[in-house]
Amino acid sequence: MPRSIGVLASRYLWAGVVENARLGAVRIFPEPGEPHLDLKALPIDEILAVISRQIVELAADGPIESVGAGLPGIVRCGVVEESPNLGQIKGLHVADELRARLKSDGIDVPVMALNDADAIAAGIAATHDTLDRTVRVWYLGDGIGFGRHPHTGGVWEAGHAVVTLDPRERFCGCGGVGHLEGIMGHRAMRLRFLDMEPEEIFVAARHGDARALEFRDLWHRALAAATSTCVHLDGPGRFYIAGPNAEFVDLNVLDDLLHEMVTMTPLQGSYFEIVQTSHDLALIGAAVASRLR
Ligand SMILES: [Zn+2]
Repeated sequence: MPRSIGVLASRYLWAGVVENARLGAVRIFPEPGEPHLDLKALPIDEILAVISRQIVELAADGPIESVGAGLPGIVRCGVVEESPNLGQIKGLHVADELRARLKSDGIDVPVMALNDADAIAAGIAATHDTLDRTVRVWYLGDGIGFGRHPHTGGVWEAGHAVVTLDPRERFCGCGGVGHLEGIMGHRAMRLRFLDMEPEEIFVAARHGDARALEFRDLWHRALAAATSTCVHLDGPGRFYIAGPNAEFVDLNVLDDLLHEMVTMTPLQGSYFEIVQTSHDLALIGAAVASRLR
């Protein structure tokens, strides 16, 4: 069975061997037990060096056919056009540069790059045996990622969808006003509640704190609003929720809000599901996508 390698840059640098939509050996940088390292502080050259070293190590166990790299931001035609949450990779011709490095290490395979949330969507499709159906995924982390499978043209930066006209809503990592990420993003929540961590906000809401309750409502409304926009543009369907802050989501609240926002009969029938182990799914999806495209 042919093997490919999936790569992911999300808090850590990950690389994993994928065979038949199953994840085998995985490399993580920094390795567990090593001091934490902020990827934002890692120069581009070092990022590429770590990734190619991981791939070379994994390929030592048997031949590989392709590499797919999932990266945050707008990734098109092998180039990172923009990446608000990993700024130094903006402009990186990642597919070409990684391919050249691997070639000099004796591995001559096609390399493709895609948005990291698109990689999760492809991973869900591959592991749920639904490669022919539309899968959309929200990734709730420092930023808000939006992934779609199958891949289509366009930008699909739905994490930056405008969900409020309030000009005071300016906490988004990209600097834009009224964005979904400016309400839901981890970084944005810390900026809004300078005296509380996001975990504490949701605990306070459970204990009836008025300010926290109001925010929890806004947080769910924002996600329902952005999803509603996706439904009105791209049709109803499955929306998966992944990432560290998926634990804050109340699916019942979200379902009710979406029903209030989407009322036309042909657009009914969407549903939400929370997925765990999104890193594994992203590695699988990046590898599978590198074989599809
Ligand atoms: Zn934004």
